[in-house]
Amino acid sequence: MIQARAVIVATGTRPRVPDIAGLSSLPDGSVIYGVAGAKEILSAADSIMIIGGGEAAFDYALSCAVRFNLKVTLLIRSQQPRARGWLRDKVLSSSTIRVVTGMQVTSVSHTSHGVQAIIEPSLKKPYISSSYSKNKSNTPVTVLHADVILPATGRIPELPEISVPDGSNLESLSCLHIIGDARLGSLGQATAAAGEGLLAAMEVSRCLNSE
Ligand SMILES: Cc1cc2nc3c(=O)[nH]c(=O)nc-3n(C[C@H](O)[C@H](O)[C@H](O)COP(=O)(O)OP(=O)(O)OC[C@H]3O[C@@H](n4cnc5c(N)ncnc54)[C@H](O)[C@@H]3O)c2cc1C
Repeated sequence: MIQARAVIVATGTRPRVPDIAGLSSLPDGSVIYGVAGAKEILSAADSIMIIGGGEAAFDYALSCAVRFNLKVTLLIRSQQPRARGWLRDKVLSSSTIRVVTGMQVTSVSHTSHGVQAIIEPSLKKPYISSSYSKNKSNTPVTVLHADVILPATGRIPELPEISVPDGSNLESLSCLHIIGDARLGSLGQATAAAGEGLLAAMEVSRCLNSE
């Protein structure tokens, strides 16, 4: 146990695990929640399915296609991805990234072909980018296979357990600061997190000096 008069919590976030039947039963190595730390798995794979339409999903899609030479399928539930700018343009023009919008994964299982996903339309007009798929008819695909699946469906704060001896709640402590992604509960910017860290350190210094 560590006791302290001031606490800065900068523990970042952890992946939000989507509610997809069968996801928790997939064997180790067939489901990952980020590219960092998964080099061995990605180097051994040929294909990956990425769920999500935000910056992280697009960033992972590009990494998998360019760094690991994988065939990528990016499954986006809404009609338009949230990712914008250079990242979005790069992914949408890639010949090895298939983008499917308006479709959602309803269940996954492990087969001899790797991960099998059942996908269903989440919108009336699903769209499949023609750059990768041989089927240019925009017909909704219902079963997909890939070696690995990567849900990039958001992040939630990774808050450690901190006990308050007198029974009061954590928020009532004057020298407590939750900063960076742990405060936002999503991916922020590294520079913003660093700035919050500096501000929190100054506040803590003031707080301790005034006691
Ligand atoms: C794929 C990806 C791409 C990104 N690209 C960019 C970008 O281009 N530009 C940009 O500005 N930002 C980018 N970000 C976001 C940026 O990384 C974060 O906003 C920033 O790192 C947040 O800093 P943080 O200190 O709040 O949390 P983090 O950097 O997540 O650090 C939290 C730390 O706390 C540790 N920890 C967690 N729980 C505990 C515990 N109980 N005890 C002790 N330690 C613990 C973790 O191991 C980790 O080291 C990207 C993020 C991702 C995932």
